[in-house]
Amino acid sequence: MKHLKNYINGNWTDGDSGSFPVYNPATGEVLATVPKVSENQVWAAVDDAETAFLSWSRETAETRSNHLRRLYDLILEKEEDLGQTITLEQGKPLKEGIGEVRYGASFVQWYSEETKRVNGEMIPASHQDKRIMVLKQPVGVVAAITPWNFPFAMITRKIAPALAAGCTVIIKPASQTPISAIKIMELVEKAGFPKGVVNLVTGDAASIGKALLDHKKVKKITFTGSTEVGKALYREAADTVKRISLELGGHAPFIVFDDAKFPDCIQGALASKFRNCGQACISSNRFYVQKGIQKKFIEKLKSNLKNFRLGNGLTSGTDLGPLIDEKAYMKVSDHVTDALSNGAVMEYQGEVPAKNPHGGGGYFYPPTILSGIRQDMKIYREETFGPVIPIITFEEETELLTMANDSDYGLAAYVYTQDLSRALKISEALEYGIIGLNDGAPSTAQAPFGGFKESGIDREGGSYGIEPFLETKYISIGL
Ligand code: ADP
Repeated sequence: MKHLKNYINGNWTDGDSGSFPVYNPATGEVLATVPKVSENQVWAAVDDAETAFLSWSRETAETRSNHLRRLYDLILEKEEDLGQTITLEQGKPLKEGIGEVRYGASFVQWYSEETKRVNGEMIPASHQDKRIMVLKQPVGVVAAITPWNFPFAMITRKIAPALAAGCTVIIKPASQTPISAIKIMELVEKAGFPKGVVNLVTGDAASIGKALLDHKKVKKITFTGSTEVGKALYREAADTVKRISLELGGHAPFIVFDDAKFPDCIQGALASKFRNCGQACISSNRFYVQKGIQKKFIEKLKSNLKNFRLGNGLTSGTDLGPLIDEKAYMKVSDHVTDALSNGAVMEYQGEVPAKNPHGGGGYFYPPTILSGIRQDMKIYREETFGPVIPIITFEEETELLTMANDSDYGLAAYVYTQDLSRALKISEALEYGIIGLNDGAPSTAQAPFGGFKESGIDREGGSYGIEPFLETKYISIGL
């Protein structure tokens, strides 16, 4: 059995509180064990990161840029191996695993360049003998708490801008998927980042979370995960007034008007719904389809889904992997059962691989289409995180907009129409941070990713994504 280690202050370290196993969600086998750190170890790691901050924050932008660029090159050299690691511990098909590595790498590349553009400002003063200077400075030690659904890219999307800003980081990956994080640390070491600049701790989420929140030297939390945990962190960060960025849940509407272009809307629906088996916060979760094309839309979806192959992500030709664990499986199946018992219609359900689902192997859920979805069904309000397309029929644009905005979430929304005026009006009126307008795959390194309402605070990506790691300092100068 392979035992992997944490990376703290440039050392490969074991946990004072034992270790825990990491499973392959496709087979149930144990892949490795990883350390369980104690609160004291987390505390010491923060002290080390604070010491490293004193020098890393003073490095030139060029030096920081060179380190990030080296990391980017190393990631690309290893993309096949990293993609396989993602597939092994997370379940997604290998082509998606490698796609995630490239997506994750693109943030490292982008911020290796953006670090040179953290500019200040001179503002005209009201007196001839005064000057107003504004500087941008790194906030300090950053705690990055990341989820299991994108175990590679959610880390790089956070640490690349943090490091570019001049911060040092402690990463706490999801317990289901720490191996990808450990592989990133191997490359961080190889890229020559000074000790203490990037650190990784694994173990009990609540106790690590507590240590990171209690420690005054952690100046910022950047979190991606459930709304429930995000809200708790937000509350607890208040005691030391930590800066906090949150990227939480979503419940994306996917809106298809009668004039939508085919097959674009079908391809968009498949991309936004089935990537990572629906386990993404920007996954479409409510499909509003205008009455005139509903039949055609369902028929086209069905004919595409018939070719979808469910299975182990390492097997070539697999389109859909397993769900991450039993809890995830039970939630998806509960949403479908609840909808059916309240009058929804099962339009399509694919086949499940023969050896499944509760027999100690993977938790495979087949692609499913439901119609006749109503607002009182669970699937209408809660994040399903699975391969289910729930369809709601609409007739008028005004009723559609009210329904689409009727959610506590506000992360992503998708709209398919060829009418330019309608497209722009509805994009402006949707209360969501990301709009895929005739586009089912909007995520990209240079654009701001983040949500309205309870979907989060701040943005990741592009020039917006470095701001949350910077403080603004004003120097008033008398001449
Ligand atoms: P999910 O439901 O998708 O697993 P979570 O919000 O539970 O999402 O997990 C996202 C990240 O937050 C993971 O790294 C997880 O270990 C971590 N986490 C969970 N609970 C806590 C907590 N109390 N304090 C800090 N981090 C936590």
